[in-house]
Amino acid sequence: MTHRPGGPGHLSGIGATALGVAVLRALESRRPDRLFDDPYAQLFLDASTWPAGPAESFLRTMSEQVAVRTRFLDDALLAATRGEHAGGRPGPEAACDQVVLLGCGMDARAYRLSWPAGTTVYELDLPDVLAFKGAVLAEHGATPACRRVEVAADLREDWPRALTEAGFGPSRPAAWLAEGLLYALPPAAADLLLDRVTGLSAPGSVLAVEHMEDSPLLRSARADVSRELVDMWQGGPAEPLGEWLTKRGWIATVRDLTEVLAEHGRTAPPAFDPAHPGSGRGRLATALVRVTSQSFSRGA
Ligand code: SAM
Repeated sequence: MTHRPGGPGHLSGIGATALGVAVLRALESRRPDRLFDDPYAQLFLDASTWPAGPAESFLRTMSEQVAVRTRFLDDALLAATRGEHAGGRPGPEAACDQVVLLGCGMDARAYRLSWPAGTTVYELDLPDVLAFKGAVLAEHGATPACRRVEVAADLREDWPRALTEAGFGPSRPAAWLAEGLLYALPPAAADLLLDRVTGLSAPGSVLAVEHMEDSPLLRSARADVSRELVDMWQGGPAEPLGEWLTKRGWIATVRDLTEVLAEHGRTAPPAFDPAHPGSGRGRLATALVRVTSQSFSRGA
């Protein structure tokens, strides 16, 4: 991918995948029955020369997945910042006034969601990705709907330090987001990511996650875009998502993508439909570090 002459920047490699998601969010935003409205997605595309978008087969495979996951995760993060249990179960959860978008890419939630007053959204990604994004948003005079803090960091390095130096408070509950990220990590890197998130999560913290199993149909759709996109898939957690989270003390609610699609009246594409040979499962999860009465009385 190259950027348009005079535009704010150039993205390649893993960072360019963020623009692929923006293509899908821009498409969903044009639908009359859209599940969210992300006007920023098109701005990012206009600032790059993502020529005709990814291959048609990739768009067909991924458009409903991205639409539904975006809405599910919007709802989960807003619920966490309002102090509602993200899995829908009532509980004495403290509202999370800090949100961390891990590998945020072109995620424009800091701008497009109605955050409770006092919310800080930390956007963590590689420096070139944040530079591109920041330049586009500045060019259009976009104003965040929260306090937005950029954290330019590599998730393979000491990002917890960069995050806390940027003002994140590990003693207060946080809402975390891992979207479009886990499958790009080898199992050990996914474990390290979760261990670090867990280590920074006070009681009441919520983690919202999206994950996809690789499958022959998904691989073939990615191959239609590029060899690089095929190779980027590293699988993510070695265990089922629920076990992976529960083992580390999270109370997890894992949904199958097909259920969430059906709730929104959307049909599962073959790559995520278990009835189709060569399909795999998509998952959406929220998980909670339970607030104990003890942690409440300490005011944690
Ligand atoms: N979460 C965003 C969304 O769903 O719109 C972006 C998803 S995009 C597929 C993956 C993002 O993860 C990219 O923005 C990429 O730069 C970021 N990422 C991948 N590896 C990373 C690393 N080692 N450190 C920081 N960010 C990384």
